[in-house]
Amino acid sequence: MDSKLHLYNTLSRTKEEFKPINPPHVGLYVCGPTVYGAPHLGHARPAITFDLLFRYLTHLGYRVRYVRNITDVGHLENDADEGEDKIAKKARLEQLEPMEVVQRYTDLYHDAMRKLNVLPPSIEPRASGHIIEQIELIKRILDNGYAYVRNGSVYFDVARYNERYPYGKLSGRRIDDLMANTRQLDGQEEKQNPFDFALWKSADPAHIMRWPSPWGEGFPGWHMECSAMSIKYLGQPFDIHGGGMDLLFPHHECEVAQSVAASGHEAVRYWIHNNLITINGQKMGKSLGNFITLEELFTGSHKLLQEAYSPMTIRFFMLQAHYRSTLDFSNEALQAASKGFARLMAAIRTLDRIPPSIKSTVDVSDLQNRIYEAMNDDLNSPVAIAALFEWVKIINLLAEGKETISAADLETLGSMFRTFTFDILGLVDEQQSASKHTELAGKLIELLLAMRLEAKRQKDFATSDRIRSELEQLGVVVRDRKDGFDWEIS
Ligand code: ZN
Repeated sequence: MDSKLHLYNTLSRTKEEFKPINPPHVGLYVCGPTVYGAPHLGHARPAITFDLLFRYLTHLGYRVRYVRNITDVGHLENDADEGEDKIAKKARLEQLEPMEVVQRYTDLYHDAMRKLNVLPPSIEPRASGHIIEQIELIKRILDNGYAYVRNGSVYFDVARYNERYPYGKLSGRRIDDLMANTRQLDGQEEKQNPFDFALWKSADPAHIMRWPSPWGEGFPGWHMECSAMSIKYLGQPFDIHGGGMDLLFPHHECEVAQSVAASGHEAVRYWIHNNLITINGQKMGKSLGNFITLEELFTGSHKLLQEAYSPMTIRFFMLQAHYRSTLDFSNEALQAASKGFARLMAAIRTLDRIPPSIKSTVDVSDLQNRIYEAMNDDLNSPVAIAALFEWVKIINLLAEGKETISAADLETLGSMFRTFTFDILGLVDEQQSASKHTELAGKLIELLLAMRLEAKRQKDFATSDRIRSELEQLGVVVRDRKDGFDWEIS
C-alpha cells in the first residue's frame, strides 16, 4: 500500500500524496447523472475518469467504497434555484410519472456504462430516497445559524458563513466578485443576497415531486443531496470527492459550505475534478447541434459522425488524455484512437505466439516502473499508455525473433500487460469477445438442436416443435436431414 500515489487536490491546488484516513479503506464519492435524458459524451468522461481511479486504488490493494449517486429530484433548470425541475419538465413533456423518467434514463445510463466497461459503484443512492437525511442536515445548518427560512423555503446565508469560513475557497471565487456578478432573478427577492442558495424549496401547487418538512411541503435544493448522501455512506470526513469541473461552482462550493456549516469541519480531504469535452473545438450544447449521445456514437447515427465508434474506442480515446486536460472530439481523433486501440489489442494477442528463449535481451522491469511512475503521478494514463506502445514495438520484435525473452520474463510481461490494459485501464478486446460470443451462440444452438433430436427420438414432438419454432423466432433457420440437421442464422 506504500504506493506513493499523488493526486491533484482542487482544494490545495497541488499534487498531494494520497493518504487515506483509515487504510486500507477508502471512501470515494462521485456526483452521478441527473437522469432526465439519454446519456451523452459529457457523462462518459467523469464515469471513465473515476472508474480509472476506482480500479487503480483497488489494484493497489485499497478497499474502496465507491458511492455514485443518481440525481432524481431538486436539480432545476440552468442549475439555478428558480425554474422547473429537470425531471418534472421531462415528465410533463413525455406525459410520464417523474419516476418513470428516472427509471428509463437510469436504465439507459447503466446500459451505456456497461458498454464502456465502467464498473458499477459500491452504492448508488438516489436523492429522492434520502429526503429525511437531507432535512436533518438542513436542521443542523439552521440550528448553527447559517440558514434562514422564507415562505417555507430555507436558504443558506452565504454572507454570515463567510464571516467565519472562507466561502469560495474550492472554486477560487471571491465573495465580492460574486456580489457584483450575480444577477437578480425573478423570485429571488426571498433571498437576503442573490448568491444565497436554496437548501429546501417550498413547492408551488403545480409541483409534483414534494415531501413534507418542518417548513412545509417542498423539495430539497440540488446541492443538499450530495452532502447528505456522502456523509451518510462515507462518514465525515471522507477521503475523495470527485466530479466534472462543471460542478465545481456552484455545486461543490455549496457542498463544502453545507458540510462546514453543519459540523464545523470539512467533509472532504481530496477534491478531484475531471476536465470537460469539446467537439471540434466547441463547447457541447443542444443549441449548437453538436450534442452527441453515447448511443449515437456507438451507432454512428449523428450527422457530425463519419462512422460508428465502438465503446472501447471511446474509452481508449478518453484515457489517452490526462483527466485534467480538455479533450476535443473529432472524427480524425477518434479514427486515430480506433487504430491505436486495434494495435494494442493485436500486440496482446501476439504475446501468446512469442517463443520463450533461454536469455532475455529486453528489460521487462522497465515497463513496470514506467507504468507505476505514470499512474502514481496523478493518474497520468497517457504517459502510461505511451510506455505500453513502446512495448508494442518490442513485442513485435520478439515475435519476429529480433529480440529474445526468457520464459519467466515472458510470463511477467504478459501478466503486466494484461493487468494494466484490462484490469486498470478497463479495456476489453472487442474483436475477441465478439468472436467468442459468436462461437458460444453456435455451440448453444447445436446443444438445443441435439436436445430436439433426442426429443424426436423419444416421440416428444411437443418439445421438438417448440425448440424449432422458438429458434426460428430468434432468426435461426433449421433444416432436417436424414442424418441430423442443418441450421443457419437468417
Ligand atoms: Zn453532487
